[in-house]
Amino acid sequence: MPTQAAPSPLDQSAQYLKSVGPKRAQLLERLSIRTARDLLYHVPRRYEDASTVTPIGRLRMGEDATVIGEVISKGVLPTRRGLRIFQAILRDATGSLECSWPGQPFLDRTIQKGELLLATGPVRFFHGLQMQPREFVSLGSAADGDASGRVLPIYPATEGLSQKVVRTIIEQNLDRLLPYMAGDDALRAAGLVPRELPQLADALTMLHRPASLGDAERGRRRLAWDELFYLQLLHARAKHRHAQERPGIAFQRNDSLIAPLYRSLPFQLTGAQTRAIAEIFADMTSARRMHRLLQGDVGAGKTIVALFAMLLAAESGYQSALMAPTEILAEQHARTLHELLAPLNIDVVLLTGGLSAAARRTALERIASANAPVTVGTHALFQEKVTFARLGLAIIDEQHRFGVRQRLALAAQGSDPDVLVMSATPIPRSLALTLYGDLDLSTLDELPPNRTPVRTTVRSAKARPAIYDFLRDQVAAGRQAFVVYPIIEESEKLDLRAATDDFQHLTTQVFPELRLGLLHGQLHPDVKDATMRAFASHEIDILIATTVIEVGIDVPNATVMVVEHAERFGLSQLHQLRGRVGRGATESFCILLSHGAPDARRRLDVLAATNDGFEIAREDLLLRGMGDFFGARQHGLPDFHFFDPARDEDLLRAAHHEAGRVIVSDPELASQRLRPVRTVLEGRFQERERMYEVG
Ligand code: ADP
Ligand code: MG
Repeated sequence: MPTQAAPSPLDQSAQYLKSVGPKRAQLLERLSIRTARDLLYHVPRRYEDASTVTPIGRLRMGEDATVIGEVISKGVLPTRRGLRIFQAILRDATGSLECSWPGQPFLDRTIQKGELLLATGPVRFFHGLQMQPREFVSLGSAADGDASGRVLPIYPATEGLSQKVVRTIIEQNLDRLLPYMAGDDALRAAGLVPRELPQLADALTMLHRPASLGDAERGRRRLAWDELFYLQLLHARAKHRHAQERPGIAFQRNDSLIAPLYRSLPFQLTGAQTRAIAEIFADMTSARRMHRLLQGDVGAGKTIVALFAMLLAAESGYQSALMAPTEILAEQHARTLHELLAPLNIDVVLLTGGLSAAARRTALERIASANAPVTVGTHALFQEKVTFARLGLAIIDEQHRFGVRQRLALAAQGSDPDVLVMSATPIPRSLALTLYGDLDLSTLDELPPNRTPVRTTVRSAKARPAIYDFLRDQVAAGRQAFVVYPIIEESEKLDLRAATDDFQHLTTQVFPELRLGLLHGQLHPDVKDATMRAFASHEIDILIATTVIEVGIDVPNATVMVVEHAERFGLSQLHQLRGRVGRGATESFCILLSHGAPDARRRLDVLAATNDGFEIAREDLLLRGMGDFFGARQHGLPDFHFFDPARDEDLLRAAHHEAGRVIVSDPELASQRLRPVRTVLEGRFQERERMYEVG
């Protein structure tokens, strides 16, 4: 790919920057700074200003605080155990504070008397108030005046490259480098930046040298725009290519199956279900290939929607495949579909790794001949030598368990089926655009009527005996219960009551008269399966489990869920867990045991207050940020540095809209105006683009 533009000085190796050199260049690499541009984009992690600094006289024990004070004395103290502690006394107008850095005597060379120091850390009581700074920044000599009114950037630093050095390097190079940013501002040049956002060079100035916190925020929003816009361009381009390169099947509806299903349904579809079905049908009957995400809260009724799609395919003589993340789930889907399809005389084929050789052969034969309209399975469906005679529709359940790549690999099956992805972790629409921007979106935002919401309470460990009595009563009334743990072994060194240990205790001491089962991820799959089945058929009263029960299992007779150490779970995950009860007609209960601080408890109160998965997801995102929300190992999660889902929804919508418009008008970004944008996209965002390629 030819690049016309001359290399920018911003591409130069960081080694040649002022105050850097080969040795520091190596250290900068640890901070992912390789070029001059990387240095500019190395923006402060946070800021301190008068509003975030606590006057020393107002510090309280136990809080985490930031102070600014002059170093009035300092020194290294040996302790009896041989540890050397650096100590400094900081003073401001309101008082003085001892700061101590155990094991860091070398700081005696760095921190000088008369210096103004900003320090952040926990405040403890130790012969008076004392702080052990987690981080500190030298603000220069106290004689130069006080720091009130200033905004202090705090940069990410690394061992051997202190805050102070990072700051110096940036300060020394900023003025020389910033003018080149004008040439780097491809989006601005193409007129693709909202008017209220600053130019790139100004944005970076605001981030590195903010006059106020509001300034820094404006700068951040501009960089967030760039991240979002390029990502949306990739999505829009991938979507455009799906449509161009792989034409879909124009399914024909004749109502030979769909109408009878409507008639035989034991309930009325919700408005949301009807809408989603209409959207899916419109996609499927068009010649364009469907790539749609169906999301909805736990229990919103996604399965039926999927079934209608499968019947539309069947009416046109095509096969459908539904892929679930586990065998248990696949079997459950097969059972549900079997019941719903019995009146229509349609047989469901199940294909999982657990089938006997003979059963497997039969299933494969049926799939290969055209007489298996509906197949349900695990990933075994697509990984092994399974040949569909005429696959027209692929449905993936619980998408967040599969990566983008797997999704696309499936879509790349020989016959180019239409693709429907179903996700049970509802996320705000805006965020769905970020993560699945290459998919169209249908949302079930309405639950079927007459659902009794699960009664949720947050309790402390003290309540455990009363909770156990409650479990006993429920079991006596013929019900079943879950007790869920965050981990299974004490080996994680966390002070958790681990499932295996508690299982022993509960079985022998607490509920000797009841039938208990244990389920966790490290059991052999056969054992797991057998345990699940035993619970489903009520041979087990109380199932002690880890989050392996999170998705899927449907045991309407289970009416109580107790979650131990609920504060360790994300809210959305807890909501998913809670969805395992309240599936029958009887009132159900979810008891969240919190051993955490009041903060953690307040977070859990969100769950007690609402059963709305979308609201919970939003709250969860606000509280934990995207990385934690989706789990660190989430495949294909965009790597955002500046975008903040809690604050940038407006930008996200605008970027989505604008990028879509650009791609429709010039899909290859070939015009003079857009070529520089393409260069950035194919350069810096190359890796992400590759994710959308299907081998
Ligand atoms: P999910 O969206 O969590 O996958 P399911 O498809 O498993 O939800 O549906 C949950 C339950 O709700 C099932 O027992 C299903 O039969 C029932 N259900 C689905 N749609 C409706 C409806 N419109 N009215 C009443 N019950 C429904
Ligand atoms: Mg489901």
